[in-house]
Amino acid sequence: MNVELIYISPDAEGSCEIGARVCYDSNDKTTDTSRERMLPSLLRSGHLSIFEHSSASFKIDGISRTASHQIVRHRMSSFSQRSQRYVNEGDFTFVTPPSIEQNPEANASYQEIMKTLNEQYLALIKLGIKKEDARFILPNAASTTLVMTTNFREWLHVIDMRVSKPAQWEIRELLILIWKELYKQAPNIFSMHYFNAWSKDAEYKQNIFDERIK
Ligand SMILES: Cc1cc2nc3c(=O)[nH]c(=O)nc-3n(C[C@H](O)[C@H](O)[C@H](O)COP(=O)(O)OP(=O)(O)OC[C@H]3O[C@@H](n4cnc5c(N)ncnc54)[C@H](O)[C@@H]3O)c2cc1C
Repeated sequence: MNVELIYISPDAEGSCEIGARVCYDSNDKTTDTSRERMLPSLLRSGHLSIFEHSSASFKIDGISRTASHQIVRHRMSSFSQRSQRYVNEGDFTFVTPPSIEQNPEANASYQEIMKTLNEQYLALIKLGIKKEDARFILPNAASTTLVMTTNFREWLHVIDMRVSKPAQWEIRELLILIWKELYKQAPNIFSMHYFNAWSKDAEYKQNIFDERIK
């Protein structure tokens, strides 16, 4: 799995602060450091619309179609995904869940099935079947690439839902990588303030924040 930040709003924290200062007619109180107090306080109070003024786009590569099906459910985001209708998926790469990888018998069977599916996909293409129809035999494990653009308010929500215990391991890992990058870019927004105020499992996130994010 690879995650690459391809765009972020210039002065991403500053844009959110400007939005908030307009609300309170307090632009004269902006200083080099004023966002350090203002942004966390807005996150805690629930004045969240101001975090829609900045956004970030990531190129996400090497996740399974299982995980991509989960991430595209977030309707506030914009997506572009590698097409299995138009791209030849011969010799497709795929994700192996750790639970299968660690079980030699299960892993051998899994790798064999992937090999067979690839052979049969190529055989269908050779028989003149269009890629858009041959793809019906491709597995949920097949890797995909997508670009996801999301405003900061929605990134906080997606992290909240997907860096949680009930989320599946693959999408959780994806959102941990994205959270880490967003924290690097906008630490006054993507530290624990929002999650401490609004998450059902802030303690779980705090551990991940301490070990993987900061
Ligand atoms: C652990 C887990 C298990 C899941 N299991 C399943 C499952 O079994 N089956 C399944 O189908 N899905 C499942 N989902 C997906 C889940 O139901 C949501 O579709 C997905 O997480 C997107 O989140 P969201 O609804 O908050 O949408 P987002 O697009 O991220 O929207 C953000 C917020 O905007 C608001 N919003 C967006 N659209 C509307 C709207 N039309 N009306 C009102 N408010 C809106 C809501 O407040 C929403 O929370 C699961 C998700 C998780 C995290």
